[in-house]
Amino acid sequence: VTARPLPGRHLGLDLGATNLKWTVVAHDDGSWQTLDRAQQTVDVPGGPDVVLRQLIETSRQAVQRWPGVATVGIGVPGSYDAENGTTGLPVNLGRAWMGRPVTRPIAEAVGLPTALVNDARAFGLAELRLGAGREARAMVGVVLGTGVGGVIALDGRVYHGRDGGAGEIGHMTIDPDGPDCNCGNKGCLEAFVRADRIAAASGTSTVVEAVERASNGDATAIEGLLRAGRYLGIAIANIVLMISADRVVVGGGVAEAGERILGPAREEVRRRFEGTALDDVEIVAAELGIWAGAIGAAIHGAEVATPIAPSTSPVVWS
Ligand SMILES: [Zn+2]
Repeated sequence: VTARPLPGRHLGLDLGATNLKWTVVAHDDGSWQTLDRAQQTVDVPGGPDVVLRQLIETSRQAVQRWPGVATVGIGVPGSYDAENGTTGLPVNLGRAWMGRPVTRPIAEAVGLPTALVNDARAFGLAELRLGAGREARAMVGVVLGTGVGGVIALDGRVYHGRDGGAGEIGHMTIDPDGPDCNCGNKGCLEAFVRADRIAAASGTSTVVEAVERASNGDATAIEGLLRAGRYLGIAIANIVLMISADRVVVGGGVAEAGERILGPAREEVRRRFEGTALDDVEIVAAELGIWAGAIGAAIHGAEVATPIAPSTSPVVWS
């Protein structure tokens, strides 16, 4: 694994449950620049074959449009096998994705080295290189949305751990007797602060509505958002303590609630660090918006994608 990105252009794809976003970035002497980006709806109900065709077609078009693209990076929700370029079990995409080869069909279609990465880790890499995490020594990233993703970066590099699963802050247990989580555990951070749970606790159907009502003085909404921020703060405090972080970057759709959630989160972190110096820990909103995942996937591809061996024909025994 090399952390030295190839100079030139790099394609990043961000596969979500509803949208496929892509971007082409240029890397030059340590700086990154976005050259192009677009998104389209993705036919997840159509199954992996249909979605893979979409990924291949999108990659082909982007590579044609931007000559000189050197690598492809693909961000996927859930777990994956970096070595084999296959997806694990992305909860939002469905069981049929278990063990699906993704990098090889795309690499073969466009003739370029291709790498997979978890979408939250891609978000973190983008924020680290050109967003709110720039210059951070130890960064914690949280993506608040329909689920809760996370990432940690140490000494300027996203830390992937044994299997690419490092940084899953969403499944850190916050309350041993808490509500059920999609992962099978109880009381995970995600079980408290994923979008639908925040809305439910706020007596609304969406987080946006909760923020609106809170602004109008609705006590239930104020309390629901406050509680979400508080649980988020507990999880953040645990990780900040663990890796001695100097920057915490919070992104994702729910983060648009802004200070209604970030404020109480900061307060909670401060409360749990009473007596220790916390002045050097910044808890800030992400900067790259909805494109962070695609940008980070492109950077990941640039940093780690290596040419794949030509595919060997399967041996057929008769
Ligand atoms: Zn969980």
